[in-house]
Amino acid sequence: MLVVEDERDLRELLRRYLEREAFSVLTAGSGAEALALLSNADLVVLDLGLPDIDGLDVLRAAGAYIPVIVLTARSSAQDRIEGLRLGADDYVIKPFSPTELVLRVKAVLRRAGRPVSGTTRSFQSGRLVIDEEAHEARFDGEPLPLTVSEWGVLVALASAPRRVFSRLELANRIHGYEFGGYERSIDSHVKNLRHKLGPTGAEMIETITGVGYRLGVQADE
Ligand code: CA
Repeated sequence: MLVVEDERDLRELLRRYLEREAFSVLTAGSGAEALALLSNADLVVLDLGLPDIDGLDVLRAAGAYIPVIVLTARSSAQDRIEGLRLGADDYVIKPFSPTELVLRVKAVLRRAGRPVSGTTRSFQSGRLVIDEEAHEARFDGEPLPLTVSEWGVLVALASAPRRVFSRLELANRIHGYEFGGYERSIDSHVKNLRHKLGPTGAEMIETITGVGYRLGVQADE
């Protein structure tokens, strides 16, 4: 999911709460970043008061297909009506408790018929098994001792097998936008991850030259 919030502390707080529930979280601190990441989101938590563009423009861009929960300090009836007219699925008025937001996220996902927590997925007949809820990955039955960043890269790639992820996207999944030097750091996480996956590591995490990386194995049915 995508969290759009220009206040860094709140953004990172929401990320922590949502990640604790095994959601994979992208973050954006501006409307421009939000628009760039929107197509990768299956739910958006959207602050309406953004520094560059009106949050309502992001809501409009999300259209009817991506559920949106609006965060706003604006409690006027006018804003609520406009937001609901533009298709917001829920409203949370600031200040709010992160726990309440997590419950609302789950309720919106449930209404949209989407999974409400992390799942276990396996790839290429069970060689690679990722259990997001247990925060555990196994390869050929052996637990993979992964760092937080390696885990983040692997879970991101596994969220859409065969899709190519750019380094920027992967860095955002694990660090948020405020993390500098992302390209080199992603390359080294991938290098270590491949090493831990053994001789087939380079096949399992493919380099797509000039674009990024993808999981090179098929998901099991
Ligand atoms: Ca704001």
